[in-house]
Amino acid sequence: MEILNVTMFSEMKKNWLLASRNKKKAQELESLLSRGINTSDAPKIQTVLDFPDLPEVDEDGATFEENALKKALVISRLVLIPVLADDSGLEVDALGGRPGVHSARFAGSHGDDDANNARLLYEMESVTDKLRGAQFRCAVAVAFRGEKLFIADGVCRGSILRAKLGDSGFGYDPLFVPDGFSESFGVLSSEIKNSISHRAQALGQVIRWIKESAV
Ligand code: IMP
Repeated sequence: MEILNVTMFSEMKKNWLLASRNKKKAQELESLLSRGINTSDAPKIQTVLDFPDLPEVDEDGATFEENALKKALVISRLVLIPVLADDSGLEVDALGGRPGVHSARFAGSHGDDDANNARLLYEMESVTDKLRGAQFRCAVAVAFRGEKLFIADGVCRGSILRAKLGDSGFGYDPLFVPDGFSESFGVLSSEIKNSISHRAQALGQVIRWIKESAV
């Protein structure tokens, strides 16, 4: 693990760029990061949507880690502040881990949540209740000026419903019931989701790393 130098650490207390174009995902990351880094002034968090000239990075890696790291490195070479990139998705036991890194485009077109959920329900139609286990996974990478600083991975286990429940959150949230709960992420509050989610687990490691490496 890299040791944070003074410039990096003071930048991280002030500014972050989230390399995500998904507004709802960026909101979750932003709230986890601002709550976790307890400085007198909350860090200013921007997303790549605030910088329309930044390129879209192709998520063509075989793993969530590869994609998160690629995004963080590419974007961090083009800006002067720390960049946090994530890649996440759903791994379904009965489907051998699919849709995995293809979660956003499971049904074909990128980010069509309704179509992705319909495809998942269709593929899971004959799967019995006991075998409907699944997990959300999230990899988070931090880079600064083209250097990899940190990478972490978080997992949230649960199971897949037979019909959508609730309409909060995004993506597969209405079909996913986290272990220990009886309602989906489409019904549970954002406070609950942000305390147990795959993103919360990964971001928790980033926040601990920043605090422990403070120079
Ligand atoms: P990404 O933007 O490439 O990371 O794509 C992530 C895709 O995985 C999203 O489009 C969702 O379909 C799914 N996904 C990731 N995290 C979540 C979550 O917290 N809830 C629901 N779906 C998620």
